[in-house]
Amino acid sequence: MLTIGAHMSIAGGIAKTAKNVVAMKANTMQIFSRNPRGSNYRNYEQKEVDAFQDIRRRHGFGPLLAHAPYTMNLASGNEKTYEFACMVIQEDLVRMDALGIENLVFHPGSHTGIGADAGIRNIIRGLNQAMTETQNITVLLETMSGKGTEIGVTFEELRQIRDGVRFPENIGVCLDTCHVFAAGYDIVHDLDGVLEEFDQVLGLPLLRAVHLNDSMMPFGSHKDRHAAIGAGEIGLDALLKVLTHPALKDLPFYLETPFDEEGHGKEIAMLREELDSR
Ligand code: FE
Ligand code: FE
Ligand code: ZN
Repeated sequence: MLTIGAHMSIAGGIAKTAKNVVAMKANTMQIFSRNPRGSNYRNYEQKEVDAFQDIRRRHGFGPLLAHAPYTMNLASGNEKTYEFACMVIQEDLVRMDALGIENLVFHPGSHTGIGADAGIRNIIRGLNQAMTETQNITVLLETMSGKGTEIGVTFEELRQIRDGVRFPENIGVCLDTCHVFAAGYDIVHDLDGVLEEFDQVLGLPLLRAVHLNDSMMPFGSHKDRHAAIGAGEIGLDALLKVLTHPALKDLPFYLETPFDEEGHGKEIAMLREELDSR
């Protein structure tokens, strides 16, 4: 069965968000682990957490995904920025694990001039101070488009991070279709080849989630602009092949296309229809 959802707002609380997932006929969701541009978060009352767990259980949600804030840069060479990122990842792993959320994804970060190797060393150090042996939550590294000094634009960089951490078995990868396409992995003409490369460098079992997005920017552009499914340079056909590929079809898919919940609901319905008619 297809596991699909979208990035959802938690402004109305997490139980309300889960209700909205059901209403849009999705069966998973991605939420921010805290305010994406600031540093605030709110703690939920037990009653609300119970309601959330109840909805998710009754409706058989697939693995849920929390996304770390964009302001968190674990690769940074700036002390303040780095300390902040270390605090955020440590707190949010505890908070999201306590909610029973299966995966937390983060952008590996931008080295902003200190070089990729130094940036990767910072990421590893930051993960090691945050991850504990007893946590159930898996940390997902997101594949990036490579804008600016971003790390995670190649599978090899993600491998370096995983190889360096103390608990590598708690690390996985989230493949963002828009980002890999912009990074220069040709999922349109050679999806098999890209997945083979992923398998050789990282191993397919590490692939735990897919961000399903079209790309406004062309192949290899290293620009990160999401487009609605079918309205970008990747196209509906190629994205349907991602959804149905034997190596991917059982993973959870999350839309991060430029829509609100109503639009995401329509997009999910359209994808289901296309899959049924093929
Ligand atoms: Fe992301
Ligand atoms: Fe993404
Ligand atoms: Zn993006």
